[in-house]
Amino acid sequence: MPLAAACPVSQHFGMALSRPPANRLTAHAPPPTGAAAPAPADGRLRPGAPEVAPYPTDATERTRWILARRGVRPAHDVWRAHGGFWEQEPLLSGAPANILTLLLTSRECPWHCAMCDLWRFTVPGPVPEGAMARQIAVALAEADGAEPGGTGEQTAEPGVRQIKLYNGGSFFDPRAVPPADYPAIVRTVAGFDRVIVECHPALIGARAIQFQALLREAAAARRRSRPPVLEVAMGLETVHPVALERSNKRMSLDQFRRSATFLAEHEMALRVFVLVQPPFQPPAEAVEWARRSADFAFNCGASAVTLIPTRPGNGALEALRAAGDFTPPTLRTFEEAFDATLDGAPARVFADLWNLETFSTCLDCFSARRQRLAAMNLTQRPLPRVSCPRCRDG
Ligand code: SF4
Ligand SMILES: [Zn+2]
Repeated sequence: MPLAAACPVSQHFGMALSRPPANRLTAHAPPPTGAAAPAPADGRLRPGAPEVAPYPTDATERTRWILARRGVRPAHDVWRAHGGFWEQEPLLSGAPANILTLLLTSRECPWHCAMCDLWRFTVPGPVPEGAMARQIAVALAEADGAEPGGTGEQTAEPGVRQIKLYNGGSFFDPRAVPPADYPAIVRTVAGFDRVIVECHPALIGARAIQFQALLREAAAARRRSRPPVLEVAMGLETVHPVALERSNKRMSLDQFRRSATFLAEHEMALRVFVLVQPPFQPPAEAVEWARRSADFAFNCGASAVTLIPTRPGNGALEALRAAGDFTPPTLRTFEEAFDATLDGAPARVFADLWNLETFSTCLDCFSARRQRLAAMNLTQRPLPRVSCPRCRDG
């Protein structure tokens, strides 16, 4: 479950494949082999269109239904991260900091949510001990020379550096990141000011505490006056009751809140991913539900909320679109969701801009619209909407 603020200043370095900035629901690509055929733009079936198997109500059946619509999983080297990039993100103080995102090759998340395609960046089996620590060490060595401006030179708070270790699932899943790797990992990342990992709320617990303790020990061994803050990113997705229940995430809002409380009680920060216009949510209500979801996240103590436009491309979403249960958001809807959520927000709000052109219908204004969102990501201030003589909704 990843997602980091898709800040505009990013610099990729020498990895074979760079996944998009900070997304779980990221990688948008043509529907994989075996995926449902693209639906008409309005998502409705036409007379004579093939019958669509209904989305099951039973959780086990849902998983089967989702898996059956997948394409072929690309091969990955579990000893090598599959992406990485530097970007800038404002700190809570408002000052920009350099932040390095590493996209780690891990085992597939066991949840199989209807809207997720991160399985395409994973391996099916457990990750062998040593692999994750090695991925991080190698990726960091490659990233070192690529940091914008060197170590914090371009930041208003020199030297502030953060790192996201996103594994396309849950960092505290022991089969994804073996706890035996924790000591080597913390030694590698103890020089950062904040270490951000992602995790399903169900796996927040003793392993998070263990990792945090080791991180603090590693920082002390380096004689750092302040240990890195451990931040955990959790996917809330939406507080829309039907959409959340049908997502196959098998998570309740109570469970999310309990995990958020656990993080706060143990001095860990919280970052939250919210989907804009997920399946099973009326498109006309997308902005309102995004805002309500962010409010819930803030009430749970989130220091950052990242809005992600729900991207088709995993096979299941194409089938749901054909059945009329999913419509991708328009760029205008995404802009409105960001505007509404940022307005009066008690913490940072980021718009995930990866592959944003997917949601645009107008080449004349897309670039200006994207730049506006990117500037809002960095400044955390609303900016006037882009008006386009050619279109009204971008
Ligand atoms: S919990 Fe769901 S959205 Fe998050 S990585 Fe797993 S399958 Fe994807
Ligand atoms: Zn336009």
